[in-house]
Amino acid sequence: MQAFLGLGSNMGSRLEALQRALDLLSTEAGIRVQRCSRVWETDPVGGPEQDDFLNVVLEIDTDLTPHDLLAACNRVEAQLGRTRDVHWGPRTIDIDILLIDDLTIADGSLTVPHPRMHERAFVLLPLLELLPDPVLPDGTRLMDVRLPDQPARLAFPPLSIPA
Ligand code: ADP
Ligand code: MG
Repeated sequence: MQAFLGLGSNMGSRLEALQRALDLLSTEAGIRVQRCSRVWETDPVGGPEQDDFLNVVLEIDTDLTPHDLLAACNRVEAQLGRTRDVHWGPRTIDIDILLIDDLTIADGSLTVPHPRMHERAFVLLPLLELLPDPVLPDGTRLMDVRLPDQPARLAFPPLSIPA
């Protein structure tokens, strides 16, 4: 299966956290990281006053079930020291599952496509680098979605994908 993951960091060494998350994801059994977007810096959306984020989107190839993929993402978050204290607060790393093929999933623990992805420039901009014309399972073309008016900058070298 092809899936897209959204990664964000706004605490500590943000670029290092993204690279470490990419490296750890690629060591997870059943996950192969295929491509990575550029690194975007974005102002925080919602939540308390906090520092700017760095965001990337990864394209992965996976044999995992969607819930096992979520568990793998949560493991990598935990390995990078993510604690869940302030809701929508600062985080060393956040890993969201954006899309898995054209699956639609909505149960207590997992919603795919990610329900807020089309409201977030920090997801749309990097995703559009990897997919020129993404279409959601319900037929929504992300090209037609009005890009949210959120400041975003390209100011960092790309991450590297382990061989
Ligand atoms: P947020 O990313 O909205 O800031 P969290 O990272 O704390 O919040 O995620 C909270 C929960 O969201 C996770 O424990 C997970 O069960 C759930 N969740 C639901 N759908 C998804 C998804 N598509 N990707 C990642 N987490 C998801
Ligand atoms: Mg999350």
